Amino acid sequence: MPATESSTQKKVFIETFGCQMNILDTELVRDKLAPLGYEFVSSPKNANVVLYNTCSVRDLSEQKVRSRLGQDRMRKEAGDDVVVGVLGCMAERAGQELIQKYPHIDLLAGPSQLDQVPALLENHFVEDHQSSFDRIALSGFRKRQKGQETDRLEQIEALDQERMGEINQSRQAFVRITRGCNKFCSFCVVPMTRGPEVHRPPQGLIDEVKRLVDQGAREVTLLGQTINHYTYHEGGKTTSFADLLHQIHEATPDLPRLRFLTSYPRDFTEEALDVMAASERICNYLHIPAQSGSNAVLKKMNRGYTKEIYMDLIHMAREKMPDISIVGDMIVGFPNETEEDFVMSLEMLREVKYKNIFAFKYSPRPGTVSGKRDADPIPQAEKKSRNARMLAVQQEISLAHHQNMLEKTYDVLVEGIAKIDPSQRKPESPAENNGLLQIGGPKIAQPEPTDRVRLTARTRGDHIVAFDGPANLIGSIVPVQITDAASLSLKGHLVQR
Ligand code: SF4
Repeated sequence: MPATESSTQKKVFIETFGCQMNILDTELVRDKLAPLGYEFVSSPKNANVVLYNTCSVRDLSEQKVRSRLGQDRMRKEAGDDVVVGVLGCMAERAGQELIQKYPHIDLLAGPSQLDQVPALLENHFVEDHQSSFDRIALSGFRKRQKGQETDRLEQIEALDQERMGEINQSRQAFVRITRGCNKFCSFCVVPMTRGPEVHRPPQGLIDEVKRLVDQGAREVTLLGQTINHYTYHEGGKTTSFADLLHQIHEATPDLPRLRFLTSYPRDFTEEALDVMAASERICNYLHIPAQSGSNAVLKKMNRGYTKEIYMDLIHMAREKMPDISIVGDMIVGFPNETEEDFVMSLEMLREVKYKNIFAFKYSPRPGTVSGKRDADPIPQAEKKSRNARMLAVQQEISLAHHQNMLEKTYDVLVEGIAKIDPSQRKPESPAENNGLLQIGGPKIAQPEPTDRVRLTARTRGDHIVAFDGPANLIGSIVPVQITDAASLSLKGHLVQR
C-alpha cells in the first residue's frame, strides 16, 4: 500500500503482552507500518495511535489490558484524539464484548489478521463514519477459523514474509515456522485464538533465516506453539521438524546460534534429538512444558502423554546431549489437584533437574474445556502456597545447576545493559510479568561504546550471566568465566582470548 497523506506523521505506541510469538507479531506489525510513514514513540502520552498486542493465556494479562483501556477512555473523554486498537489473542477471544464495554476502541485485529492493521488504521483516518467491517478483523473465536489452509498460510506469509528484517542491537531474531495449535489442552485458549496449525514452506523459512544472517543476526530462534509438530507436505515429499532443523543449520554456516521454542512432549522425535546432538550450532536447549507430574492431572488436562512418556524423552535427550538445558512449565492448583498430585509435580522437578521453570497458578479461561467443565475449587491462597513451594524447590535445583558452572568458561551472546542487579531478579513467571516489550519503549541512556557497563548475556543453554565490559560488546559472542552463582542468575568476568 503506498504511503498516503493520511498515514504520515502518525505516532504509534505498541505495548506487547505475553510470549515470544507476540513479540514477533509486534515487530512484524511495526515493519508493516513503518514504510507507510508511521513513527514509533516511547510513551502512550506522545502517541496518537495506541495499540495493545494482547495475550489471553492468563486472566491477569487481560486485566492489565482492560485497565489500559479504562485510562484511554478517560483520555478520549478529555478530548484527546487518540486511536486505540486491540490486537492479538484478546481481540480474537473477546472482541465483541470489548467493543460493547469499551466503545472507544477504534480497531480490533486477531492474531491471524495482523497484516490488515495498516488498512484498518487507514480506514480510521480516511473515513468519517465506518461500519464495524472497516475496523474489525477477526477470524471468529469458537468457530475455530474454518478457512482453507491455503488462506491461512497466505495470511501468515502476508505478515511474516514482508518483514524489513532490521536486526536489533543484540542481533537476535525470531522466525515463526508454524502458527496455531491442534492439541486442545483443556485449560488453554490458544487453539481458539490462533486457530489450527499452519506450517510455513521450508524453502521460504531457509531463505528468511539466511536473510537475517546476512543482515547480522547472531542468534535465530524458531517459533511455534508446538514447534516439533512442524510438518510440510509438497510434491509427494514431507519435511519433518528434524529435516527442517537440519536444512536450516546446513544452509546458514555463518549463524552461530539456532534455537527453537516451544516443544510439545508427545511429538518430539528421536530424529530431532539426533539433529540437535549432531549440529554444533543448534543450542542444546529444550523448553518443554510438562504442566504436571501427576498422570491423573495430565489426563484431565488432555495433554496426551503420561509422566513416564515425558521422562523417557528427557532421559533420551540427556543421553544424547549430557549438557542440555531443560526448561519446564508447571500449573499448580488445576481443578481437583490433590496434595499428592502436587507432590508428584515437585518430585518431577527433582527428577528432571530443570534449569528453571515457569510456574503458573491455574485460572479458568472462557471457552476452554476445563473453564466450562470444571469448577475451580482450589482456593487462591492454596494455589499461592503451592506456587511458592514449587518455586522454593526449583530454586534449590537451579542453584545447584548454577553452582556446577562455577569457574567454567562459556561463550555468551551479549544482549544489552543489565537493567537490574542480577541478584535482585525475581523467580520467572512470564505471564505475570507482562509488558515484555514496548515498541518505541522507554529508552535507556546510551553509553559511549567504550564505557564500562554491567552487561547481560546468555549462554547457549539460556543461562543469564552478568559481567562488566565495554558497551560495544553488545551483539557479540564472548567468553565469560563464571564467578558467582545464585539460584536465578550468574555473574562472571570477561576472559581475554
Ligand atoms: S499445546 Fe496445549 S498449552 Fe500449548 S498452545 Fe496448544 S493447547 Fe495450548
